[in-house]
Amino acid sequence: QSDIDAYYKKNAIEVVGDQSYRPIMEFSQSGLPSNFLKVVKNFKNPTPIQASTWPISLSGRDLIGIAETGSGKTLAFTLPALVHIQAKRRDAGNKKGPTVLVVAPTRELAMQSQEQAEAAGKECGVKTVCIYGGVPKDAQKKAIRSGVDIIVATPGRLIDLMEEGACDISSVSYLVLDEADRMLDIGFEEAIRKIISNTREDRQTLMFSATWPESVRKLAHDFLSKPMRVTIGSPDL
Ligand code: ADP
Ligand code: MG
Repeated sequence: QSDIDAYYKKNAIEVVGDQSYRPIMEFSQSGLPSNFLKVVKNFKNPTPIQASTWPISLSGRDLIGIAETGSGKTLAFTLPALVHIQAKRRDAGNKKGPTVLVVAPTRELAMQSQEQAEAAGKECGVKTVCIYGGVPKDAQKKAIRSGVDIIVATPGRLIDLMEEGACDISSVSYLVLDEADRMLDIGFEEAIRKIISNTREDRQTLMFSATWPESVRKLAHDFLSKPMRVTIGSPDL
């Protein structure tokens, strides 16, 4: 316990909710499925947001992660997403359709997350697609039709495709709201609420944000169920 407290202190990690989760401070530590170690083979250690949130996300619990840009949030939600997908595949009769949806504020951020998910997913046969506006819809529709496990999307285009009947997210059971504060700043609140409402009610929901203002708290309150909250550093409120 004292080594955990020291790790939390050293990295300015605050965990709110349940104190029984042990951070995964080393990749070799048990808790990460062995086939996912390949995904992180080029990294020395998990970053603080990864170490502190992996055990929570892997347990299936809802999560709010507050950490600044560049802290490794993408793999923080991608590794448990891959584990989630594999578990769903083992469930007999699991219907087709994306299992994981990541919603991000901009095309650039969505593409960066999708690239990391694609690279990591390759190790276990997971298919991904990136959905964003400003380009023709045909290729995106075709990719969705061919079957994907993970959709990384910006809100506007995703809603467009949903309304056209080209993207059914009713099987999504692992939802990530990435850069939630920025999405609200841009004015995506209504779109996000609509998107979330179209996913499975029993989904696991993860929300990541660089800051923790009232607007983000409200969204978390409305859509997350008994979330754990992990904060790295002391973000501006
Ligand atoms: P964020 O979403 O928090 O802004 P990213 O997930 O994009 O950050 O990660 C930032 C960079 O850190 C990326 O280049 C990523 O490959 C790298 N990275 C992720 N995890 C680790 C790790 N455990 N060790 C070293 N570098 C990492
Ligand atoms: Mg990010």
